[in-house]
Amino acid sequence: MITCKDFLSELNEYLDEDCRDEVRKELEEHLDECPNCWVICNTTQKTIEIYRGMDPIPIPVGVHDRLLDALRMKSQIAPPA
Ligand SMILES: [Zn+2]
Repeated sequence: MITCKDFLSELNEYLDEDCRDEVRKELEEHLDECPNCWVICNTTQKTIEIYRGMDPIPIPVGVHDRLLDALRMKSQIAPPA
């Protein structure tokens, strides 16, 4: 039986894909019994997922064109021929 302290010290390894099976099993048993660690694990996992999912997002073409139109209206610059 592992403690919360053990769990938290192993959490990084657990969230890592190549966690050893016996470690993972122990931690999952603790998660079943300990809502506190479950919340911590869940929150950390979500944070990592969001972080990993962050790709640079290009400006959509339509937005870019509307932005240029708005700038031209303001500054009265003729569009390039
Ligand atoms: Zn715990």
